[in-house]
Order: sequence, then structure tokens, then C-alpha cells
Amino acid sequence: MRIYISTDLEGVCGVYRFEQTRQYGTPANLEARRLLMGEINAAVCGAFEGGATRVVVRDGHDGSKSFIPEELDERAEMVMGVYSPYDAVLRQGFDGAFLIGYHSMSHTPRGVLCHTQSSLTWDNYWINGKPAGEIYQTAILLGSCDIPVLMVTGDDKTVQEAREFLGDDIVTVQVKTGLSREGALMYSPKRARAMIREGAKEAMKRIGKIKPCKPKFPLRIRWRFKDSGIVDRYKGDARRIDATTLEKIVTRPEDIIFP
Ligand SMILES: [Zn+2]
Repeated sequence: MRIYISTDLEGVCGVYRFEQTRQYGTPANLEARRLLMGEINAAVCGAFEGGATRVVVRDGHDGSKSFIPEELDERAEMVMGVYSPYDAVLRQGFDGAFLIGYHSMSHTPRGVLCHTQSSLTWDNYWINGKPAGEIYQTAILLGSCDIPVLMVTGDDKTVQEAREFLGDDIVTVQVKTGLSREGALMYSPKRARAMIREGAKEAMKRIGKIKPCKPKFPLRIRWRFKDSGIVDRYKGDARRIDATTLEKIVTRPEDIIFP
């Protein structure tokens, strides 16, 4: 059984302020990345204990440069860097996916480091009129390659959002409770890793029982940015709704994220 792990940084236990996720290479950022590697390795362990034969982990946070390669469990493979098409690796075939270190969508009350895509330039994002975030976006991209999401980890709001969009059959692991956008009640990272390892083992049992996320296309997607200048400079074919908002009817999964 082959498992694909998509990662982000904001939902990792011990990560609770933007200084850790935005300022690449600082001591705070390195600490966050070490905590991320700990959670990844816990998920990799659980996957192999649950019968995995191949585990590929993708570095998903901001430009895909957050992994500390030396620290990766030697049984796993990693995907880093920016490339196209998005499904180049996914098409190798996977039986399920884990989303590790994910965060809730923009404007989630008390969602730790909540945002959708860019915490600096994006204000909000909708699919068919409903606010959506990165969990649903990732699930759709994986779903287009027939890969179901089996497990999601992050804070309490992340877990709630995952269940809302993907249903209650998935495994969720809550590693912290959001108190504010930059405040959290957290477990020890060691305990969070133990929970993720158990969660991954349980998720392996759900292979074949959870369907890939395949919403019916076309989808009506709306993007709101923080600054009208971003839309002033936009050259694509999305329709401008107002100073900061674009909308587009999207026919292909690869076009759901950026207008
Ligand atoms: Zn991120």
C-alpha cells in the first residue's frame, strides 16, 4: 500500500506564531521545521506499521523548502521544490493520503495561523459560493488522481474543517487548540507525535473505505485579495467582481488554486 503525505507548517504542534512560518532560516523557523520533521516521521512510522510499502512526503509550505532532509525517516521519499504539472508524482499511484500540519481557512475564529494560500496577500476564497481552504483544495487535487484523504492533523479548527469537507470517516488528530490566530493550548510535541503515529496506523485500515474527493466540475471559484493593486496587475481571464475580488468558472482541477 502506497501513501502520499502532503505537509504544511502552520498546523504542527509547537508552531503558533507567524514568525516561525514566514521568516525563512531564522532560529524560530528552524525550530518549527524540526517540529514538522518530528510529526512527519511519526506519520511515516505509523504508515509502515499499518502495512505501507511506499511513503512519499511532499514539502508543501511556502515554496516547498521547509524540510530538513537529513532528519527524514530513511524508509520514506520526499518531494521538494516547485514543478509542473502538479500531478507528476501523484500519477505514480497512491492508495491514500495524509495531510500533516494543516491549518484552518482564512477568517476562522481562533484558528491558529489561519489563512488560505497566502497569509500576506489573500483575504478569502470560495468554491461555488462557500468559503473553502487548503484542506479542500488539497483533497480535490488528490481526488483528481483517485487518491482519498485518510487522515488530517492540525489544531481543533483544522480537524473540524476537515470533517466538514471530507466527512467523519477520516482520521483526525488534534495536536493543539486554537486560542487566537497566534495563540494555542498545545500538547508536548512528543505526545503529539505519538498521537499522529497511532492515527496513521488507524488511517491505514481505512484504505478502500474512503472515497476520493471529486466535486463535479465546472466549479465557480472566487478569490479576494488584501490589496486592490494585486487585481490591478492581474493579467489572466478571471472576471473582476470588485476592487479586490476575481471570479472564474474553472473546468480543471489544476486551475482551482490560482486565478
Ligand atoms: Zn503553510
